[in-house]
Amino acid sequence: MLSLEALRGPLAVAQHQLEEAAARLGIPPHVVDLLREPERAIAVRFPVRMDDGSTRIFTGYRVQHSTARGPGKGGLRFHPDVTQDEVSALAMWMTWKCALLDLPFGGAKGGVICNPKELSEGELERLSRRFAEEIAGLVGPGRDIPAPDVYTDERVMGWMMDTFSRMGGRPLPESVTGKPLALGGSHGRSTATARGLVETVKEATGRLGLPLKGARAVIQGFGNAGAHAARFLEELGCRVVAVSDSQAAVGREDGLPVEVLVAHKERTGSVAGFPGAEEVRPPESIVELPCEILIPAALEGSITEENAPRIQARLVAEAANGPTLPAADRILHERGVTVIPDILANAGGVTVSYFEWVQGLQRYAWKEETVAERLAEHMREAFAHAWEVARREGTDLRTAATMVAVSRVYDALRWRGV
Ligand code: GLU
Repeated sequence: MLSLEALRGPLAVAQHQLEEAAARLGIPPHVVDLLREPERAIAVRFPVRMDDGSTRIFTGYRVQHSTARGPGKGGLRFHPDVTQDEVSALAMWMTWKCALLDLPFGGAKGGVICNPKELSEGELERLSRRFAEEIAGLVGPGRDIPAPDVYTDERVMGWMMDTFSRMGGRPLPESVTGKPLALGGSHGRSTATARGLVETVKEATGRLGLPLKGARAVIQGFGNAGAHAARFLEELGCRVVAVSDSQAAVGREDGLPVEVLVAHKERTGSVAGFPGAEEVRPPESIVELPCEILIPAALEGSITEENAPRIQARLVAEAANGPTLPAADRILHERGVTVIPDILANAGGVTVSYFEWVQGLQRYAWKEETVAERLAEHMREAFAHAWEVARREGTDLRTAATMVAVSRVYDALRWRGV
């Protein structure tokens, strides 16, 4: 048995969380063995013509961790640090996330090793379409449904849906979620992760007796989830005292004006140099700043046993997948810091993906209010359930949420006769 401190790689972290939950639930060893690794995975290598006439070879993955509860579901990540190990962990977290929210999906994930910031729009389109063709044998509306993740967006999903539709010989809006509205995307999908996150923050702060008005929030990562979360928290009267992105971290004691900061980032490509803000150095130390609410919204492994003892927040809400390492989890739990785990806190994205998929199958679009209401209801129910299990079992919320999810997957496996 490895020490908690040794658990750093995303798959090892995810396996540890599974084992912890499974041990408390008394899940038989062969089931744990099955769920430790993905059901199915492919690695593909493919050429893409670059604008200068040269050809580059890219590597990508699609991993289905479990399809016990339904077709695979999960995003596609375009990032230079993508590995198969990471994609497998992210796929496992998707299985738990979908089960916890009681969505009829299993868990999957994909990724391509690339830096989209260095690709032209044409290069990105050719890469997306070719990758879609490469994984088409594994994915599809009733098998596995991709969606956006880090550095992929509605444009990429539009190209993918078009490629799947052309290969299938008919429009297949239900083959991908996170599409543009014009292609059968859902109202509220682009803000869904942040809306769901804020819903869980409201549930948690209510139970902790922590007033949101005037609460200081720190947000690590200013992509889709982080930036929208900043917006919504500001609307609720929080002060967003610091934010960071991959290049810099900036802070302001009386709160950063979120809209102005978003416009600055759109114009310059980074939050760096935002007028009237102080630079936080080094940017990773942002998680240690004084605040009530900390939102890791970047990549895995940003909260470690080194910085966890210095975290001052009372509540950590994980917009990112896998930001907290197991050793840090233990420290935060012992220090009385409440962590709303990724599989709960950021599940709003996949929940509205589910709504989008249903709308695609029905060929019937829901109103924005319907999406918002149903999302809030799903988030509140999942939160209440995890909170109750945590209280009953005396565990942190991550273990409780994973227990709920793992027991549902185990139930599906049993009924299937595994
Ligand atoms: N990439 C998002 C996640 O990690 C959304 C996945 C989806 O909508 O399928 O939850």
